[in-house]
Amino acid sequence: MKSFRKELWFNTPNRRDYINITSEVEACVKESGIKEGLCLVNAMHITASVYINDAESGLIQDYDDWLEGLAPHEPISHYRHNRTGEDNGDAHLKRQVMGREVVVAITNGRFDFGPWEQIYYAEFDGRRRKRVLVKIIGE
Ligand code: ZN
Repeated sequence: MKSFRKELWFNTPNRRDYINITSEVEACVKESGIKEGLCLVNAMHITASVYINDAESGLIQDYDDWLEGLAPHEPISHYRHNRTGEDNGDAHLKRQVMGREVVVAITNGRFDFGPWEQIYYAEFDGRRRKRVLVKIIGE
């Protein structure tokens, strides 16, 4: 069995950003040379997510509005976590809802996606360098 590991780095300009990373992760699959296997993609930080959904117009803003409704960033004092001096209590909750990782099957050297599936990195406490892990195993 072969294995491949790579870190993708991000430094988003905004506190919250949603980035389609499908082509970057596909490049990892190509680089790995693995034709049949599994690809894990996970956020390495507890205030960011990796998820799969459509690249359809309006959807990212809908996610952001929905998450802000569930766990608004402000007022910062609303979160017990922020009594530590941090201001990212909302980001921890948003990450929990959107998840830590995705696993995608690789068949014939390509992602075996369902219709319209795309891989996204969701940042909830950005404006600093953060990482996503790509781990691929197979033959
Ligand atoms: Zn925190």
